[in-house]
Amino acid sequence: MHPKHNPLVGRNLQIRVKIWLFFMLFVCIVFLLMWLFQVIFLEWFYESMKIRDTAKVAQNLVSAYGTEDFSDRASEISYQNETCIEVLDEDGREQYYNCIYNGKCLLHGRDNGTFFYLIDLQNHKSGVICRRVFNDQLQSQMLIYGCTMYWKDGSVAGYLLLNTALVPVESTVSILKRQTMIITMLLAAFGFILSVCVANYISTPLVRITHSAKRLAHGDYHTQFTGGGYAEADDLAETLTYAAHELSKTEEMQRDLIANVSHDLRTPLTMLKAYAEMIRDLSGDNPVKREQHLNIIIEETDRLSLLVNDMLDLSKLESGTQKLNYSTFDIAECMQEIVYRYEGISEHMGYHIHFTPDVSCLVRCDESKINRVIGNLINNAINYTSKEDKQIFVTQKNTPEGVRIEVRDTGDGIEEDKIKLIFDKYYRSENHKREVVGTGLGLSIVKAILKMHGYDYGVNSKLGEGSTFWFVIRDVVTDTEAEAEDKPSA
Ligand code: ADP
Repeated sequence: MHPKHNPLVGRNLQIRVKIWLFFMLFVCIVFLLMWLFQVIFLEWFYESMKIRDTAKVAQNLVSAYGTEDFSDRASEISYQNETCIEVLDEDGREQYYNCIYNGKCLLHGRDNGTFFYLIDLQNHKSGVICRRVFNDQLQSQMLIYGCTMYWKDGSVAGYLLLNTALVPVESTVSILKRQTMIITMLLAAFGFILSVCVANYISTPLVRITHSAKRLAHGDYHTQFTGGGYAEADDLAETLTYAAHELSKTEEMQRDLIANVSHDLRTPLTMLKAYAEMIRDLSGDNPVKREQHLNIIIEETDRLSLLVNDMLDLSKLESGTQKLNYSTFDIAECMQEIVYRYEGISEHMGYHIHFTPDVSCLVRCDESKINRVIGNLINNAINYTSKEDKQIFVTQKNTPEGVRIEVRDTGDGIEEDKIKLIFDKYYRSENHKREVVGTGLGLSIVKAILKMHGYDYGVNSKLGEGSTFWFVIRDVVTDTEAEAEDKPSA
């Protein structure tokens, strides 16, 4: 396919380009910040830092003013912070002066700035001044910081003037400019290569997975999804492999289902047609034969409707549209009723159902569905029990886990490798005989109902000795719970 007509290629290119663009945008932002902070605003940063530091120095001096060792502290602060200090009393008389530039500072120096800055400070309502002045004696920029000092009662205690040098940052800026330029170029090249690599790294597994997904969409369920590189791609590949596996199973099941359903429907339909034709062409006038053939037609129709009903029931159960209709009932009584129902039909065929109840016990579950489960298990037991002794054993056992219900027959048993298959839809053993009435759905319905309830179930079987199907009703109701349920709520 031409790449232009392949939406997949177009989309992938976009993913790559987008990742690359985002990366480059990030690099540009980094450059911009670097240039702004390192070059353009460096001087401004430096000055504001210097002002903050000088204000702190002033603060220290103000708090020390008036103490006995003020001049010692002031000298120490002056040398430590490379700051000239001038302290004046409330009338502007000098109290303390220390210059670290041999008298060349802007305060006492040639221009005797003290007087000038004192006026400036006194005129300033905020009581603080901050000036940037060029000192031509020292040929450098200076910072003049002044503040008014107050006593505790709020009266003026004096004035503090500080002078500190502002180191020229031009040379630093030009060095930084050159450095930043080199870093910018290196970073641009590196960022470009890295972004292309990252874009490829992220998009390659996605492209690969998308190709595989396309193959899957065309019905190739054995396509391999490979992630690689990072956890999300691996997870995606793993999930899609799982989905492909499930899809293949579903398709296989669908194929089997169609094969089984069509087989199961075709057989009774063929028989119906054959016997109907026989009645029309041959036995129509012979009442005995006609009766016989009509009975077969009725039996086959029953078999058909049984199959269709089971199919409907199972699909309803599996679709999740059916909700459980919970009620509290005595399981021993319920089982006794089911056994009675079966005894009538099975006894005239020679079957004998032995029921061993435990003490009566209240359970809370969907009664009609549990009825169906027990019925299906007894049906199977009748169908598959030994044709010689025709015995079926139904047992109720109250255990700490719940009420365990067992249905045992004395038939041929089930081969071990078949046990895990019998609960599958439409599974019927190859050696099952046609006279055994069944749809291959009975145990699937049992499984669906018990799964809805969340009950454990299973089968113990030994070849030649028969099988015991069991399940455990976990929702046992205690007497107090039952009483509380009986009381109408206030
Ligand atoms: P059906 O009985 O209609 O074939 P089921 O889903 O009830 O369908 O059972 C599936 C298969 O499990 C049966 O075809 C049979 O091979 C096996 N099976 C079920 N119950 C028994 C049993 N009690 N003894 C031996 N085999 C059984």
